[in-house]
Amino acid sequence: MKKLMTLLAAVALVGSMAHAALAGDTLADVKKKGVLVAGVKDSLPPFGYIDEKTREIVGYDIDFVKAIAKKLNVKVELKPVTSASRMPQLMEGNIDIIAATMTKNPERAKQIDFSHTYFLTGQKFITNKGKVKSLKDLEGKKIGTAKGSTSEQNVAKAIPTATVLSFDDYPQAFLALQQGKVAAVTTDESILAGILGKAPNKNKFEIPNLQISEEPYGLGMRKDDKNFVAFVNKTLLEMEKSGEAKKIFDKWFGPKTATPLKRTFKITADK
Ligand code: GLU
Repeated sequence: MKKLMTLLAAVALVGSMAHAALAGDTLADVKKKGVLVAGVKDSLPPFGYIDEKTREIVGYDIDFVKAIAKKLNVKVELKPVTSASRMPQLMEGNIDIIAATMTKNPERAKQIDFSHTYFLTGQKFITNKGKVKSLKDLEGKKIGTAKGSTSEQNVAKAIPTATVLSFDDYPQAFLALQQGKVAAVTTDESILAGILGKAPNKNKFEIPNLQISEEPYGLGMRKDDKNFVAFVNKTLLEMEKSGEAKKIFDKWFGPKTATPLKRTFKITADK
């Protein structure tokens, strides 16, 4: 028994040492290995999705990762993550940074650190056209969203009588709407606009003007990884100042895109 306890203590010690190592200096590590490994979405236009021609993952989130890697003079490796897997992947050291439509909030900030806000949106719904005028119309209904998202939590609070069905990702939730299995899909407006923009039968659906939350996006990094967080924040502020951040916004959300949205934010230092 004593031996077992010693063994367990040793395992725990090694485990905590590995953890401490991970919380170390990602900035130095990335420079040393010459590659920045980013956890990104791969089925959410225009944030992260596979380009039909090049078969590469492209999008708003990807352009920010590429700009940071360029500044570091390293290559980029993109690893697809889901809403539920992104924090564990980061904390286990499988990725260096999360750039995956991720909302900053105090609960998540207990486990990881966030950059300054680099995108701002709010949670809405996609519904069948003409069916939903107010939140009341969704009471007692089935609503689809993604596991591990703020969308899942917000909708449960906003419409407590609804049944929330959580899928691995939003395209799956939208499929359920198309098949009549849910009455709505809920998540950030910017994501819903991307889904609708690509939908073949988009005239059948709409995004009613019903917003239930504000969703500021941040790039996720390991807790207390101070040098890396400072570098990423500095880069974001420089991108705002030089106009590069706005250029990326216009590329994916400008008037000529499938997802025209207004830029209602500027990248500024968090207070
Ligand atoms: N921005 C929200 C979140 O971080 C919803 C989008 C997503 O699931 O990535 O949870």
